[in-house]
Amino acid sequence: MMFIDPHVHMTSRTTDDYEAMAAAGVVALIEPSFWLGQPRTQVGSFQDYFSSLVGWEPFRASQFGIKHYCTIGLNSKEANNEALAEQVMELLPLYLHKENVVAIGEIGYDDQTPAEDKYFRAQLELAKELDMTVQVHTPHRDKKAGTIRSMEVCLEHGLDPANVIIDHNNEETVKEVLDRGFIAAFTIYPKTKMGNERMVAVVEKFGSDNIIVDSSADWGVSDPLAVPKTASLMLKRGISREDVVKTCYSNALKAFGKNGKMKESDWLHAEGINQTRLYNDNSVLRGQEPRVDSDKIS
Ligand SMILES: [Zn+2]
Repeated sequence: MMFIDPHVHMTSRTTDDYEAMAAAGVVALIEPSFWLGQPRTQVGSFQDYFSSLVGWEPFRASQFGIKHYCTIGLNSKEANNEALAEQVMELLPLYLHKENVVAIGEIGYDDQTPAEDKYFRAQLELAKELDMTVQVHTPHRDKKAGTIRSMEVCLEHGLDPANVIIDHNNEETVKEVLDRGFIAAFTIYPKTKMGNERMVAVVEKFGSDNIIVDSSADWGVSDPLAVPKTASLMLKRGISREDVVKTCYSNALKAFGKNGKMKESDWLHAEGINQTRLYNDNSVLRGQEPRVDSDKIS
């Protein structure tokens, strides 16, 4: 079975994670731009980060046989530094056209401050102008109100809910999201409320239409194998293969494939792994024998 993890911050992960994800069947992933724990103080830090998401990180993923896509945006937390936020807004159009950028994201609310609201709305306008999909981060505090507010603001700005992925859902928010025609993504964190047992129950209750599973693995306690593990548990609990494929692969492809940059042929007809390749003179290897799938490399 093939899997897509449409929300995983690989910048914070190791090559062991890439290897394990590939071995578990992850063929493609989407890395949303986000905050890095340490607040950035200069626009150049954003620029280098965005450049890494469209340059170095796709190369690193390719060295382990995974297709890397990303979403670019000003995250909610750092939107609160308005002087910096203004400069980041000016940078965004330079990156949104890059070949692996599939959406504007992850954007939305953290503490639901006026500054967060201002830059969320500005980026929704940008999405409308560029006809791009939007990936929304919903707040972990005051989740339900924040989720409803995020959707209302999207509608107020005239976005088609079918082009908006609302992430970090739980049992309290999923019905509202699906009823309004938005796409509901679920982040499966280990040892927390939204674990994979509860994800199985959500799919049993709400079916598989417009529901997406992701890991949101990053620099915190998280699991880059959350998607294949949840899929395996779903199958064990008797959920049909078709529903597992939809929630752990094809719904994400449909939602993020709209601008034509992410397509199945990217991995079905991919060249093999060639670890002799370099990126700006850098290799992911440290003296190991490079893997070269010579039968698949033209
Ligand atoms: Zn994230």
